[in-house]
Amino acid sequence: MGPGIATLPTMRPMRDILEAITSGASGEEIANLPVPESYRAAFVRRDEVGMFEGLEAEDKDPRKSLHVEDVPTPELAPDEVYVAVMASAVNFNTVWTSIFEPLPTFGFLDRLGKESVWGARHALDHHIVGSDGCGVIVRTGSAVRNWKPGDRVNIHCNYVDDQDPAAHDDAMLASNQRIWGFETNFGGLADLCVVKANQLMPKATHLTWEESACNALTNSTSYRMLVSKNATAMKQGDVVLIWGASGGLGGYAVQYVLNGGGTPVGVVSSPNKVELLKDLGCEAVIDRKAAGYKFWSDPHTQDEREWRRLGKDIRALVGRDPDIVFEHPGRQTMGASVFVAARGGKIVTCAATSGYMIEYDNRHLWMKLKDIISSHFANYREAWDANRLICEGKIQPILSDVHPLENVGEATYAVHKNLHEGKIGVLCLAPEEGAGIDDPELRAKVGEDRITLFRRHGA
Ligand code: NAP
Repeated sequence: MGPGIATLPTMRPMRDILEAITSGASGEEIANLPVPESYRAAFVRRDEVGMFEGLEAEDKDPRKSLHVEDVPTPELAPDEVYVAVMASAVNFNTVWTSIFEPLPTFGFLDRLGKESVWGARHALDHHIVGSDGCGVIVRTGSAVRNWKPGDRVNIHCNYVDDQDPAAHDDAMLASNQRIWGFETNFGGLADLCVVKANQLMPKATHLTWEESACNALTNSTSYRMLVSKNATAMKQGDVVLIWGASGGLGGYAVQYVLNGGGTPVGVVSSPNKVELLKDLGCEAVIDRKAAGYKFWSDPHTQDEREWRRLGKDIRALVGRDPDIVFEHPGRQTMGASVFVAARGGKIVTCAATSGYMIEYDNRHLWMKLKDIISSHFANYREAWDANRLICEGKIQPILSDVHPLENVGEATYAVHKNLHEGKIGVLCLAPEEGAGIDDPELRAKVGEDRITLFRRHGA
């Protein structure tokens, strides 16, 4: 567990901003404070992309590649804002960036650098990571209309240029769609970040900075996969098999299935996680380690008997096959996922943690009229709707641990090694856990126990 206490900024302008925020200064007062010329951030370095050469991915250590130091503040484009980041969170994409897998992310920055004058700012020799953030706007660009300094905001990571016609139906189909803090620079694991105004959403008033910061990326992704018409549009009564059901995506997926009148079947890998899911209201849980499934009998061969065994275990719990399988482990599980989905069922996938070269038996797909549906993050509307559910207390944060920014390597290592549950929060400017609650009555109404369920399990 992280100590949950951060080091205060020592540089004057940043300290002034923090003091203004914590003392409840007005937006005008915040707007009058100077923007610091540099700020503390977590980044990887271009000259270190070869540092893990020869090692297997699991042996590459984010604690060695992630640095926390001062970096120069970039100029602000007209459609952007500076946010003083109170808290952020670790996502799996920071694992990928920090182990330079499957590719170093500097290639993304260089491509963005060629796109425009403003894009050129991103092509640097350091990549500031982080795709979640919660904080306070300190400055807005000249084209920003709906937000102002002093606004308390949550940031989603869909980075889209609205001059692309393709961005105007489903923004995720825009040819220049990127993930902020992964395919762009100036991410959220820092004391300050630069984001487009169309990444901003209101901060939940009943949550702390860190409880609020942990949601946007995985909550929005799970929302699109299960609720949106752009993916499975789950209906009441659906049985949904959820891999990694206590992880960053799964912890929200379980809540969406329960809220939507479905039956989640959660798969996890330890008795503690089984317990956590039961407390979350998921009655049907499979401990995949205890069950000992061996879907692959060797690195090239899958064992259909093991797929069948999983199918039987699901039927024993809920009486029928899953209408939807919530997929992200990839190579290790996809064959089983396609097999166990019901006739006419859907397999929705957004990732491939265990390998992206997928194999499944196509006969089970076409003969039983199943669909594999791809999904990736969420458009602004989907992220906004998912955030509204957080703000209304209908979906709870899944924060299980909190680290100060200088420990970001350790926090990222824990996610890489699957040592965590839910999400790991990171305190950036927020000096300690527990600050940032503006509406204690709503918090009491939603229930402290529900809001802190993962934190209590992680502690
Ligand atoms: P996470 O917090 O690490 O959770 C993933 C869960 O998957 C783990 O808790 C683990 O649960 C389970 N898992 C890991 N390896 C497995 C395997 N070989 N077989 C079965 N289960 C396995 O990560 P996350 O935030 O949920 O993200 C999961 C993946 O989705 C990552 O690859 C991430 O990059 C990707 N992602 C994609 C998007 C997108 O927009 N496309 C958005 C978010 C995340 P148990 O050990 O308990 O079973």
